[in-house]
This record gives sequence, C-alpha cells and structure tokens, in this order.
Amino acid sequence: MDFETYFASELDSVREDGRYRVFTDIKRHRGKFPHATRFIGEETQAVTVWCSNDYLGMGQHPKVLEAMHSSLDECGAGAGGTRNISGTNHYHVELEAELADLHGKESALLFTSGYVSNWAGLGTLAAKIPGCVVFSDSLNHASMIEGIRHSRAPYKVWKHNDVEDLDRMLSEFGPEVPKLVAFESVYSMDGDIAPIAEILDVCEKHGAMSYIDEVHAVGLYGQHGGGIAEREGLMDRITVIEGTLGKAFGVMGGYIAASRNLVDFVRSFASGFIFSTALPPAVAAGAAASIRHLKNSDAERELQQERVKQVRRKLDMLGIPHLDNPSHIIPVMVGDAKKCKMISDWLMDNHGIYVQPINYPTVPVGTERLRLTPSPVHDDGDIDRLVNALSEIWSQCELARMSAAA
Ligand SMILES: *Cc1c(COP(=O)(O)O)cnc(C)c1O
Repeated sequence: MDFETYFASELDSVREDGRYRVFTDIKRHRGKFPHATRFIGEETQAVTVWCSNDYLGMGQHPKVLEAMHSSLDECGAGAGGTRNISGTNHYHVELEAELADLHGKESALLFTSGYVSNWAGLGTLAAKIPGCVVFSDSLNHASMIEGIRHSRAPYKVWKHNDVEDLDRMLSEFGPEVPKLVAFESVYSMDGDIAPIAEILDVCEKHGAMSYIDEVHAVGLYGQHGGGIAEREGLMDRITVIEGTLGKAFGVMGGYIAASRNLVDFVRSFASGFIFSTALPPAVAAGAAASIRHLKNSDAERELQQERVKQVRRKLDMLGIPHLDNPSHIIPVMVGDAKKCKMISDWLMDNHGIYVQPINYPTVPVGTERLRLTPSPVHDDGDIDRLVNALSEIWSQCELARMSAAA
C-alpha cells in the first residue's frame, strides 16, 4: 500500500467537507489572560480569547502558580513512574483527598485527563461487572462513548435528557441485570443542564448505578465548586462523579470520586490508570491549590455569572441570536458552516477576537455556532469590543437578528 497517498487523499476529503482543523497558534500571557499573542508565520497579533475552557482564569491564579513553582522546585519535573511503581507522589495523595472531600465521597482517583478518566472509569466498570448493561445519554461526550464501546458491554442510548425514555429502556431489563446510567450535568455545546434529580429517581427505581460527568460544572457551581450536583444537594445519591482539572480548575488531569470500594476496584483493574505514568507532582499541587481556593471563594463564580449575564444582555439588545440556557456557555447561532468559519476569521483578522467556529461533527449540521465563554477575566471593554464586532459582521453579512433588536 502507498501509505502517504492514502493519508493525503483522506485529508483531502476532510478538507472538501470543510472539516479540516487548523489550530490557532497562541501564547497566553500569565496575568493578562484572556489576552494572548497569536503566531501567524513570522507575524504576531494581539488577541483576546473568547472560547477558552479556563472558565475562571484559574490557569493564571497566583496561588496555583505558587503551588506549581514550589512543588516543581521541591520534587522536579515528572512523577518518575506509574502510580504502582514509584510514581505516587505525596501531592497526588493530597489531591485525591481534596477531590473526595469536594464531592462528599469516600475516595477519589486521579487520571492523566478527563478523557482518560471517562474512558477508563466507565470502560472498567462496564467491562468488569458481569452482565452489565450501560444506558448512555445521546449527547454524551466522546470519551464516555469510547469507554462504553471499549468495554464491549451491551449499551442503549436514551434520548437526551429524556427521563421517560430512560425509564422505559431500564424497564426492558429485569432487576437481576446490573445497570449503569451515564450522563453529564452541563452539556458543553448547548449549555443545557440535565434533570439530575429525576434521572436519579429513575436510577434508584431500577437499582441502577449512576455515573455523571461534571466536567463543565466542577469549580463553577455549588457552594464549594463541587458542580451542579452539589448545588442541588444530590452528590450523595450519585454513584460516580467524574470531573476534569483542566477546565475551570485551570490545570490538567481528570478524576472519579465514589465509594472506597468502587474507587479501589477501578484502581485495581483499569488498564488506562495502571499502565500510565502519573501526572507531574507540580500539576497535582497546582490543581489542589485551585480546588482549595475555589472551595472557599465564591468571587470568581459570581463574577463569571455576572459577565455571562452582561454578554447575554448586550447580545439581546443587538438582536444577535444565541441559545438560551441556564449555564455559563453562550452559543451564538450561525447555522451554516462556511459562514461560521468566515465570521470567526473576520473577528480574528479585523478585531483580534478569537472565537473558534464550532461545526459538524461537533454539532449537527445547520446548528453551526460560535461558542462564547465569558469569564471573570474579561472586562467591560473586552465585552463591548466583542458585541460591537459581532453586530458589525451581522450587518455586513445581512444575518437575521432576533425581533428584540433595538
Ligand atoms: C473536555 C471534556 C472531557 C475531557 O476532559 P479533559 O480533561 O479535557 O480530557 C470529558 N467530558 C466532557 C463533557 C468534556 O467536555
């Protein structure tokens, strides 16, 4: 086989579909984020980032940086091994205790990313519980889907956030069949939130385990940043809570929190945990500092919510269509892949505003969008520049405005 020709032709077809991904090359500036420098060949451009998942700017928080600097100087660069073979650093142990406490669970287990925690966590539970059947929300993240597929357990996909559909599917299996229900709290593309209490009612009715991905909620919701389940007082009813340290916590890594036995079970059987080098100690120390700070400080969460409201209000005043939802994610709907990419390029080239276009296959065709993530580090000037630029391009392209337009 002529491998090179094959690779090139596959890439060409991705390009023809308009799905070829071109990365925006930036340096984020500590202390000045969301401001960054973009690299385009030999040129550079000052940009403001509007599509980051560093939702609270914790990636530049002085306490996080201080914890990372001091642990780096203390322990060196890498962990030096898998968790079982010399790689368990005291900072990992402290971080796991912090995570268990955050979610009111007996135990927690760290992974190198949220992706791996879902893939290995769900994959191990579904594969190792004899006869287990998985029930997966239709909009679950790729990492959960891959974990479920990898387990080779039978699975059923229930309609997004549809508790009756879930109930009906669970009813098809007798009480003797072990069941695992997997879903998210905040869905990252539409910013909608699952009816967690109702889902748990149904899980309990059928004796099913519940597995929630709170990746887009940890740090952001609940009195201590424990997520939507903390806010709604539901953490103790959920079997497994999964989260990331790479989004609102601003660092990197993933985890599950659950009972001591469940966590010990995954720790003992999950290949993606066992056979992989532990996170660098400095990463664990930084994440722990971020969690500790957000457990005790509401200021970042409150200011984020205020910024989100401000952006929504201004978009409404200008009639720029955006999905209404109860979260911090603002999807500005364009509905056409080429236009979405064109608007994104125009914002960058003319205003230094960086919003990645979200096209198929991440979202369905016809729902292409710009996904805005306002944060406490965006100021009034950043917001005004963003909405004014959007209004300008909306006029230039003669895009539809909502009737509320002034
Ligand atoms: C980003 C994401 C993950 C993966 O987390 P990482 O730490 O980035 O690997 C898992 N679930 C959802 C819903 C996500 O959006």
